[in-house]
Amino acid sequence: MTNNNMYFIANWKMFGKLSSINSINKVIKLSKSNEFSKTKIIYCPPYTLLKDFVQKTKKTKISIGAQDCHYENNYGPFTGSINAKQIKNTGANYTIVGHSEKRSAGDTNIIVNKKVICSLREKLNVILCIGETLKEKQKGMTTKIINKQLEICLKNIKDLKKVIIAYEPVWSIGTGKVLKVEDLNVILKKIKIFLKKKYKIKNPKVLYGGSVNSKNILILNKANEINGFLIGSASQKENIFVDILKKSIN
Ligand code: PEP
Repeated sequence: MTNNNMYFIANWKMFGKLSSINSINKVIKLSKSNEFSKTKIIYCPPYTLLKDFVQKTKKTKISIGAQDCHYENNYGPFTGSINAKQIKNTGANYTIVGHSEKRSAGDTNIIVNKKVICSLREKLNVILCIGETLKEKQKGMTTKIINKQLEICLKNIKDLKKVIIAYEPVWSIGTGKVLKVEDLNVILKKIKIFLKKKYKIKNPKVLYGGSVNSKNILILNKANEINGFLIGSASQKENIFVDILKKSIN
């Protein structure tokens, strides 16, 4: 894949303080160059930094997203939570939902579906994470699991224009393990076929996430079906993220 129209989503997880904002300067500079004119870079910092990131990237093409939202859209007694309205109010335009680290803390497919609905209602773009665990992979259940996740998480969603799918095998997140590019391509293709059939969309966007780094990007990027990457720890180190972006255009 060439880098044209590719997505690079930086998930900062529970990392980053106010001063960390300066560590995106090189990425901002790179995003302004001609080579990256069609590349979509989206930073998803912790909630505490959303407004600062929005401010910092105001005059750039970089977008900002949250890492999650609550499944209720109304204001209410949900201590410690943030809803899609509040995310939108920071100036952010995206939110990740269904990340495996939230699923392992209790988010079911039904809850993720509610989060998708709330986010779309607030006109946020949704990055929906799906993916199988190691046990499910070993049992040969990958396709069944991802189809079920898509089916339930996208229930009652009519229009997928603002939905991006991130295929993130749970066994790959933060472990350094990645799939073979051929296997990745097969799964991405299956996801696209499922979405095309069910939603009649021409070009679904499907990204990969899981231990992407400045070495394996060269190989992973060879997957014909790839539309971009969701990157966790490697996106928090500016030089590595810049390296990943640069290598993606070769
Ligand atoms: C993630 O947080 O979604 C992720 C893919 O993390 P990492 O790149 O660190 O595996």
